Amino acid sequence: MAISRARLLRDLLPVLNDMFGLGLELNYPTSRDEARRARVKYYFTGKVCRQGHTALRLTHNMSCVECNEIYQRAVCDRRRAQSASKKSPGVTPMGRLDANWKPTIIEEK
Ligand SMILES: [Zn+2]
Repeated sequence: MAISRARLLRDLLPVLNDMFGLGLELNYPTSRDEARRARVKYYFTGKVCRQGHTALRLTHNMSCVECNEIYQRAVCDRRRAQSASKKSPGVTPMGRLDANWKPTIIEEK
């Protein structure tokens, strides 16, 4: 399962802090404008998204990272299903050739 870097960092940081007695904090901009100015990929408003996540947001589309992950997974699943239905199992490229097909033999002079 793919996991976003932002989420991994968020989940991992408290563990690292506990293990090594660190006081590291994630310092994200608190608004999209601030994030744009700082040219960073994520910001954190602390507000709850439509689906009830309190997560980082993507600067480029304001989407919550959790929602974005769910959406991306759905897109992947749909594409996988589409490509699986296109393939007809057991048919090789040679199998598609006409029964009367013969190779063209080019003789060297
Ligand atoms: Zn969300």
